Amino acid sequence: MPVNVAIVGSGPAGFYTAAALIDQGEDVRIDFIERLPTPFGLIRGGVAADHQTTKKVANKYEKTALMEQVRYYGNVEVGRDIALADLRERYDAVVLAIGAPEDRVLDIPGADKAGVFGAAAFVGWYNGHPDFCTLNPDLNVAAAAVIGAGNVAIDVARLLGRSDQELATSDLPEYAETAFRRSPVKDIYLFARRGPVEVKITNVELREVGTLTECVPLVNAAQLPEGVGNLEDREKRLKERNLETFKEFSNRDGQEKPKRMHFEFYAAPSEILGGDKVEGIRLERTRVEDGRAVGTGKFFDVPCGLVVSAIGYHGEPLDGAPFDDRRDIIPNDDGRVDAGLYAAGWIKRGPSGVISTNRPDGVTAAEHILNDFNSAAKESKPGREALETLLREKNIRFVSYNDWKKIEAAEFKNAEGDRPRKKFTTIQDMLDVLDER
Ligand code: NAP
Repeated sequence: MPVNVAIVGSGPAGFYTAAALIDQGEDVRIDFIERLPTPFGLIRGGVAADHQTTKKVANKYEKTALMEQVRYYGNVEVGRDIALADLRERYDAVVLAIGAPEDRVLDIPGADKAGVFGAAAFVGWYNGHPDFCTLNPDLNVAAAAVIGAGNVAIDVARLLGRSDQELATSDLPEYAETAFRRSPVKDIYLFARRGPVEVKITNVELREVGTLTECVPLVNAAQLPEGVGNLEDREKRLKERNLETFKEFSNRDGQEKPKRMHFEFYAAPSEILGGDKVEGIRLERTRVEDGRAVGTGKFFDVPCGLVVSAIGYHGEPLDGAPFDDRRDIIPNDDGRVDAGLYAAGWIKRGPSGVISTNRPDGVTAAEHILNDFNSAAKESKPGREALETLLREKNIRFVSYNDWKKIEAAEFKNAEGDRPRKKFTTIQDMLDVLDER
């Protein structure tokens, strides 16, 4: 009697849950339901296009996807094509691994001006995500501002700082690569509302911007503290590494390379300046008190024609599931949401951590699913066959894993030069590959 599990979302959290279920050695059948034809969530649509090594983790997920117990139903949106209740009726367990796809709102005057983008949209655009492929940001600017001091902010700043040659080994879609190449941007500002010790950028990513061929990172030495203060061992080591890196950056020469990446600390955005289109940003000087940024009442302006707000993401409610409006997550007890309903990854705990942080979520969800099923000792629900019947009744065209491999093979075939793939950026273009004879 197999346990039939539907996993909604095929990003890291979904794949770690599937792998953990299989590792438990019980009789399970696992079906991924994914909104896009393409699998792997943020690995394809979030991890920066110039970080191809990081994207290789998808090879591990593929091993899971190809296991006999597992099926993939892409191009099926829960909440639009089928309801969550449809899945709960048909599966013993449903796992919501739907991530946190929306930008945290930049709530300052002028944030609605043309040329101001949230990172989810901007990153989605340069990664060829079908939702954002028409964003068309104007990169014809001399200066760009990135708000936030996390790994997403540094991804955006780094891509703006990359040389043509560096971009040529990425999987940026052609429209984005062309826009970055043509961009005359010379000054890229990264604004952190707290200090160098509080930034959330990991050290590997920070050091990487010191190696860009055409962009030099700059830090004002006067903003660097002597030490990182009293912290726990591991955190202290990590912060000290960042501080060392910032010290190194503070000795760099702004004339060294054609582009400059300015790290500006203690700078909280207060207003976007300009007419219909952004012409600059006003920031308030801050100081850090009890770990929080506190405004000093002193303001300064920086001219720029592009603003990308990378201040974090948030989850979205899904019809049929509870939602915690304050934390923007699906409320859960260690991954349990309701009888037969579970959550994993960012929608369970909020948008933090690196890819592997999702692995323990998957293990926990798998343990709960099997324990709950076994302790109820009930009959299995029908699972896969009932889902396929429903999809056919509703005339929903689903994409199998084999179909995805055909789409991917066409992406590989179409790639030119050193580019690893040429992404299809619309769902129609992906489906057209499958319709070609
Ligand atoms: P994040 O790590 O939470 O960083 C958000 C940044 O925005 C923080 O510096 C935060 O400052 C700042 N911020 C928040 N609200 C703000 C406001 N109103 N005004 C000004 N600044 C504000 O989020 P993220 O960069 O979106 O990354 C999400 C997760 O994905 C993170 O766990 C990240 O490590 C991970 N990720 C990892 C990689 C990688 O490993 N290479 C790449 C991309 C993303 P405060 O600290 O003061 O709140």
